[in-house]
Formats: sequence, C-alpha cells, structure tokens
Amino acid sequence: MRVAVFSCKPYDKRTLSDCAHGTSLSLSFFESRLSMETVKLVQDFDAVSCFVNDDINADVIASLKQQGVHVIALRCTGFNNVDLQAAKDQDVQVFHVPDYSPTSVAEHAVALIMTLNRKTHRAYHRVKEGNFALEGLMGFNLEGKTVGCVGTGRIGAAFCRIMKGFGCHVYCYDLYPSEALIELGCEYVSLEDLYEKSDIISLHCPLNQSTHHLINQQTLAKMKDGVMIINTSRGALVHAQEAIDALYTGKIGFLGLDVYEQENEIFFEDMSSHIIQDSVFQLMLTFPNVVVTGHQGYFTHEALSHIAATTVDNLLHYRTK
Ligand code: NAD
Repeated sequence: MRVAVFSCKPYDKRTLSDCAHGTSLSLSFFESRLSMETVKLVQDFDAVSCFVNDDINADVIASLKQQGVHVIALRCTGFNNVDLQAAKDQDVQVFHVPDYSPTSVAEHAVALIMTLNRKTHRAYHRVKEGNFALEGLMGFNLEGKTVGCVGTGRIGAAFCRIMKGFGCHVYCYDLYPSEALIELGCEYVSLEDLYEKSDIISLHCPLNQSTHHLINQQTLAKMKDGVMIINTSRGALVHAQEAIDALYTGKIGFLGLDVYEQENEIFFEDMSSHIIQDSVFQLMLTFPNVVVTGHQGYFTHEALSHIAATTVDNLLHYRTK
C-alpha cells in the first residue's frame, strides 16, 4: 500500500519509517499540509496519513476518492479537522490514534499550572540576567486548591489523578462520569458549579459545536475572580479576545495555553517559520500571567512512538480487511 504522509516533520518520518520497516507499506513524506492546494500530490497513492492541521474537508475527500484513496490514517486523537459525514458518504475509512499518551498531555497541563502558580517563566528570565530578586514572584500552593476538569476522558482522567496527588479538591464535568474517578474522590458537578467553585479550570473536552468558545464572557462571569484557565485541548474552546478582556479586568488571574484558535492556519505552512501573525495572539503574550506553548502537549518520546506504531497498525489493518 502506497501512503502519502502529510504535515510530516523529520521526527514523524523517523518514527514512521522505523515502524513501517519490513511491512507492505511504502511511505512518501510531504512537509505540506493536506488541503485543496496540495491534494493533487496524492495521484499515485492508496492512503493518506494526516495530522491536526490538515484540512480534510468535503472537497478534499471527494478529490482523494477520485484519485483512488480509500483510507485516511490520522496521526492524532481529534477528528475535528475531518468532514466525517463526507468521508462516510464517499466510503473513505478514517482511522485515528485514540490514546497515544494521555499522560503526556495531562502532565503538560500540570506543567502549565506549575509554571503559572510559581511564576517560573518570569523567574527564569530574571535569573538569566543575574537578578535573584523575588519581588513580584510570590506563588501559591496547589495543595488544598479546587480544580475543575471539563472532560474526563483519557487525558482529563490522567489530569484528575495527578491533581488529586497534589491534595487538590477535584470537581469534574463530563457527559459520562467515570466511576474510577468518583472512587478516587473526584466530585462530578454541573458545569455551572464547576465554574463557580474552581480556583483552576483545565479543559480536556473535544472541540465541537457545543464546546466552541466554551470559555467566553458569559461563562467567565460565573467563575471566581483570578481564576486560572488551562487549555491543552483545542484552541477554539477559548474565545481569545474575551479571555484578553478578562485578563485586563483580573477575572482571569492566570492563563496557560498549549493550543490557539488560529494555529492551524499557520502550522506547517512554512517549515522554516511557524510565526502566528495574529494581533490578538500577540496581545495575549504581553501579559506576564499568560504562558503559551505551541501545541506540544503530546510531544514526548513515548507518545510519538505510540502514534507511529498505531498509524502503521491502522493502515495494515485496513490492508488485511
Ligand atoms: P477522550 O475522547 O478520551 O475524552 C474526551 C471527554 O470529553 C469524553 O469523556 C467526553 O465524554 C467528554 N466530552 C464530550 N463533550 C463534552 C462536553 N460538551 N463537555 C464536557 N465533556 C465533554 O479524549 P482525550 O484523549 O482525553 O482528548 C481530549 C482532547 O485533548 C482531544 O479532543 C484533543 O482535542 C486534545 N488533545 C490535545 C493534545 C495536545 O497535544 N495538546 C494531544 C491530544 C489530544
């Protein structure tokens, strides 16, 4: 089976090549993202492998099918960049990697919390300049704080377990409560209650119509003054401009983001530079109580190996169906 791998970074190429070695898969790697502009590259392929930034809309799927592609193997968990209905209509099978490393993303969410609560990002820059003054760097303990987790699937559950270990009281909201988390002492409440009670709110639900801009002016108004918001899920869960307004008023005391709404438009567009030219984003970065990372929650040795192995398995599984 000939597979066109889109949005491919050197580390993807290494891990995928290792996993596909000795199998019937023949992989070709493309740095560009899959879109209507690049879909013509798949002329001689049976399958494509894509990442979160690839734009797999109905037109792209129709073109894939027309060129003989029957399978899309995503190297990510979320499906929000794929028109699943169009794939079904065109009889194109879509695979994803359901749980490549929930721990990697959960630990990154905790890393953002611990950077913000101890102001490590500011301390580091100060010490680099030889300045050991502690003025303005007062932190707070996590023990005894209330943490709200929105979405307690694989990543959210791993996050809750870690926060329980810190001695936090963990409030959860999910459409499907987890018995294991309840046994651990986590408390499922309504979303309203979670907003009202939490010192820290971490988002681990998928992006869909009901969660788009979940954090906005109205929902922020229900939260504690100075709340910490952490988003390692998908950028559009947070209304960026309204979050900035809340940073100005102090409603948001700390903001930690691994994902940003406009990131897909620039991600992998140009391998030499991944600069977001977005004025709202630039403004966000001027706040000392904001920490942003560039969608690296999943980016660990363990997760990348798992992603590559599952992607290859998915393609081989399709081959033998
Ligand atoms: P999952 O499917 O295991 O869990 C998602 C949970 O959200 C489920 O329990 C589901 O019931 C719940 N949910 C659905 N709609 C909800 C709603 N409206 N309100 C509250 N909960 C809702 O997914 P996961 O593996 O835990 O991943 C969660 C998200 O993390 C993914 O959708 C993806 O967007 C993101 N993610 C980010 C990175 C990264 O590198 N930053 C990596 C992987 C995944």
